[in-house]
Amino acid sequence: MSELPNDKTCRQCGAPLSYTDICLHKKLLSRSAVTFFCMDCMAVYCNTTRERLEAYIAHLRKTGTCSLFPPLPDENNEE
Ligand SMILES: [Zn+2]
Repeated sequence: MSELPNDKTCRQCGAPLSYTDICLHKKLLSRSAVTFFCMDCMAVYCNTTRERLEAYIAHLRKTGTCSLFPPLPDENNEE
């Protein structure tokens, strides 16, 4: 994991949040949010799966269309 640790925790289950979790919440729900879901709770909230959320993030990174998820420098996951 390359994300920096932070003092935020999931508002639903209390799990520690990664930077990615926070960015995903901002992307999907509200950019001005001050409390956040972890990826598992976000999946439940959105009636989807963690795998689909991760695939969505990977898509955003690949296309580079979202400032919250810039492309990763070591992109080696050709589809
Ligand atoms: Zn949670």
